[in-house]
Amino acid sequence: MKFVVVTGGVFSALGKGILTSSLGKLLQSKGYNVTSVKFDGYLNVDAGTMNPFRHGEVFVLDDGTECDMDLGNYERFLRITMNWWNNPTGGKIFRLVLNKERKGDYLGRDVQFIPHVTNEIKEWVKKVGKEADADIVLIEVGGTVGDIENSYFIEAMRQLKMEFRKDLVFVHLTYVPKPPSVGEQKTKPTQHSVRQLLEMGIWPNFVVARSEDPLSKNAREKIALYCNVDKDHVISDHNVETIYEVPFLLEEQGFSSKILHELGLEDRPVRMDKWGELVDNIKRPDSEVTIAIVGKYTAVRDAYASVIEALVHSGAWEKAKVNVKWVEARDFDDKGIEDALNGVDGVIVPGGFGSSGAEGKIKAIEYARENKIPFLGLCYGFQLAVVEYARNACGMGMANTTEINPKTPYPVIDILPEQRNVNEKGGTMRLGAYPAKLKPGSLVNRLYGNLEISERHRHRYEVNLEYIEKLESCGLVFSGKSPDGRLMEFLELPGHPYFVATQAHPELKSSLERPAPLFLGLVKAALGRL
Ligand code: GLN
Repeated sequence: MKFVVVTGGVFSALGKGILTSSLGKLLQSKGYNVTSVKFDGYLNVDAGTMNPFRHGEVFVLDDGTECDMDLGNYERFLRITMNWWNNPTGGKIFRLVLNKERKGDYLGRDVQFIPHVTNEIKEWVKKVGKEADADIVLIEVGGTVGDIENSYFIEAMRQLKMEFRKDLVFVHLTYVPKPPSVGEQKTKPTQHSVRQLLEMGIWPNFVVARSEDPLSKNAREKIALYCNVDKDHVISDHNVETIYEVPFLLEEQGFSSKILHELGLEDRPVRMDKWGELVDNIKRPDSEVTIAIVGKYTAVRDAYASVIEALVHSGAWEKAKVNVKWVEARDFDDKGIEDALNGVDGVIVPGGFGSSGAEGKIKAIEYARENKIPFLGLCYGFQLAVVEYARNACGMGMANTTEINPKTPYPVIDILPEQRNVNEKGGTMRLGAYPAKLKPGSLVNRLYGNLEISERHRHRYEVNLEYIEKLESCGLVFSGKSPDGRLMEFLELPGHPYFVATQAHPELKSSLERPAPLFLGLVKAALGRL
């Protein structure tokens, strides 16, 4: 087993995950089995209890783990299915150590960061590598070198190097700014963060420089000289048009070959033809559509990262540029809807929680339904589509979800019986991959090309079984259900060009090489190609 450990300097949040996934993609295409571990220093056990305003999207894995959105990048690039173990957090590690302490595993000893916490971390990454049968484990240490939060992870990586020596390489990602007043790339932040790393006992094998423009010869030489790395171990990671191009940017500089050389592994040709074609499509589209995303967190785009990527994936396959129009659901009145949605080619109402913005989303759904604009509802968007239909097409005027109005006369969306007595908030929703059976001949059946599918979930509420008959008699079709038929998973509206919604979050399984079918369907419908 070999390891590549990626750490970051100040502002490396501009792409550590993308760098690591891109490197992984190259190594994978060269025939190596890779997996990844992302460390997050926060003490929440997982990302599920964190507000997307603060932390970005909560990504959900098949096994129900709520995790950092970087895992989304790994899955999108590497198309591997990750699990709880791929995202160790401070919270998970400390819980483990404290549970052991209570059980008496350390009896007679004081429990210390070194060796007890660091040992758990080292064992953790070895376990992940072993279970995945990985040739190479990519390890991304979240946060900035010098932070208290990730210091024990970095210390554990130093120790891991002592154990694995030549089988472990360090990559340090830094930001190389070009202040307009100076007009040249400055390497001081890089020098300082490498110095910090050296103080912690780690000498990076590679320095990757995030910058707007390609790294200048001068900057490269300076980094090599001051940071004690080979000149051709300084890699330029400058801005490119799309994140999916980053593997090629790295490959031009022989990055993966150099990594393999350091690890003593054989270099092989890269096989990414299809990927390259899709990247070309993104860069040179021959048509264009605009999709409105009607949401609550529109000021923080990271909150909808997977939705945006799923649109990019679909656009790539259709050789179309998908423009996103952000529509803040809390701002809506009737006139506002017309202004905001007039002329868009499609509407997405994504997932969400709580009452704020919900009425605006319902208005947007009504607008899309009545004006025959292609519509995709995701999770809350699915539930609100049911509410909208009940109110405006089935004569249930005050219909609602009990999440918004517990006293509604028509609780068409209601909490699951098994959720009623749940008191803990962390990790207790209906989470992870669940199967659904699709209605033969339905639109979703055609889009998936399958009768049995599986998508990921994250919600507490469901369509209330008592209203299914009524809703269906008014024309709404529940075209996918849980295998026992009790949970509504998909809906569609015959006679509308594209009115589809799902209780699931299909955006979480979309990848460039295999876009989520419902998104591809939406983009096709928006282009008039369905
Ligand atoms: N708030 C809804 C529920 O909990 C939908 C959640 C979501 O969109 N992820 O069921």
